[in-house]
Amino acid sequence: MLGIYKQEAYERHLRFQRDADPTWGRKITALPGCEGILTCMQCGTCSAACPLSVYMDYTPRRIIATVREGFREDVLRSQTIWLCASCYACRVRCPREINITDVMYALKREAIRNRMYPPHFPIPILARAFFDMVKRRGRSTEFWLVLRMALRSNPLILLGMAKTGWHLWRTGRLSLGYEKIRGVGELQKALASPREEV
Ligand code: SF4
Ligand code: SF4
Repeated sequence: MLGIYKQEAYERHLRFQRDADPTWGRKITALPGCEGILTCMQCGTCSAACPLSVYMDYTPRRIIATVREGFREDVLRSQTIWLCASCYACRVRCPREINITDVMYALKREAIRNRMYPPHFPIPILARAFFDMVKRRGRSTEFWLVLRMALRSNPLILLGMAKTGWHLWRTGRLSLGYEKIRGVGELQKALASPREEV
């Protein structure tokens, strides 16, 4: 039984060189903060230092290797880039001084731009909904933000939040109305100005 399970796991993760897009890999390594990827010696120190690597589908070391080879789909659909807490533990210990945290940020931006996310994973959906709401109104409203995230990922998570939400609303700490700043047009102009091209 275990043998079958292991075989399925291998089949799921097996990749061939023909699936890679080295051009994409080169584009990422040319981004500010990502230049060091090419000097990685795959020592694994970053994965050992990362407090969240046990929860990641690709450890930081594997992310670096997978980007370098150009496996775009695997990288952008991985949960790792969204689980990264930007603690810089990997960056501090990397013997090649590679900015792994900046690489994670660059990959998040790339994933958002291409709308490629791990399926049913709430964090990128929350990030996208937050950005859209702030862009439209200048402020985020927690109730609608969480509702949007849940409806687009897994509505069942609302069941676990209902009691807390009810208490927050009863004590006046949860607003159901949309909030908006004055002069939101100025903010929209600022957000529409220079965009990083990949
Ligand atoms: S610690 Fe640095 S050199 Fe070692 S695997 Fe991680 S990124 Fe590569
Ligand atoms: S910055 Fe991200 S990848 Fe690096 S150690 Fe912290 S959580 Fe892990």
